[in-house]
Amino acid sequence: MKNLVKWIYRRGIPVSLLLAGLVGMCAAQKLAITMDDLPLNGMLPPGVTRADTAKNVLAILKKRHAPPVYGFINAKKLEGNADGAEALKSWAAQEPVGNHSYAHMDLELNPAEAFEREIEENEPTLEVLAAKDDWRWFRYPFLHEGDTVEKRRVVRAYLKARGYRVAQVTLDWEDYLWNTAYARCVAKNDAKAIEWLRSSYLNTASEFLDLGREQAKLIYGHDINHVLLMHLGAYSSAILPEVLDLLKKKGFNLVTLEEAESDVAFEGDPDVGLHDAGTFLDQWMQVKGIKYPEHAEKPYKEVEGVCQ
Ligand SMILES: [Zn+2]
Repeated sequence: MKNLVKWIYRRGIPVSLLLAGLVGMCAAQKLAITMDDLPLNGMLPPGVTRADTAKNVLAILKKRHAPPVYGFINAKKLEGNADGAEALKSWAAQEPVGNHSYAHMDLELNPAEAFEREIEENEPTLEVLAAKDDWRWFRYPFLHEGDTVEKRRVVRAYLKARGYRVAQVTLDWEDYLWNTAYARCVAKNDAKAIEWLRSSYLNTASEFLDLGREQAKLIYGHDINHVLLMHLGAYSSAILPEVLDLLKKKGFNLVTLEEAESDVAFEGDPDVGLHDAGTFLDQWMQVKGIKYPEHAEKPYKEVEGVCQ
């Protein structure tokens, strides 16, 4: 430290510049990681269990000292599935759990009353699993918050009355696309395809992290705290260390969901009926009629076609 001070002094670097640098370092953007579709999203390669998948991801989160990561569960996936139940038990022993509806119901295809029943049906499992009384966070399946404004308002009011907060999403590169593709490529032992999955995944992640931050600036005039959506599946443990490296490289500082959503940006509600509108930021872009900055699209066709 002393040497550093001497070095700075000798070079005559202005104090204001140093302070600006320090502020920049401290102002790393806050981001909460969340995982959906527990105990499992997509397919698994032969011989791999849900329990192993969860345990491998948990070990990485622990090793990297990640703050608590909410896992959003669909309890229906546990019925008659001992492997799924074990996966979920391991998750809840280390990380918090939240409500993702009992059977991943699509609010656009169902009335609000049926959707509310789905939320309640998921609660007994959450009550048993959660170590603390901290499971009243709701993540909308497919991020569908209602195709009519009436439906949207009814469900939002219901969630609020029941003590829930909405677990919003601001960053999403549809990582689930790679889960089943990876399971297929591992089953085929196709090393070249697996390497392509890795590069396409990381390129897409990088592109959409940048896009999300651009969107925030267009909507709010500045960047905000972020909530990242991921899905627990076959590819999660293989790619997670590199995702964590990427987030660090991009200047994100991992925080809890609660801390991320303490940003006033999350107090807003687009309050309109929307069809398949995407993230919280995508919804605002639509409502405010903001044009998207240029960006590469996700390689849907290629990922769906690989190792078929
Ligand atoms: Zn989901």
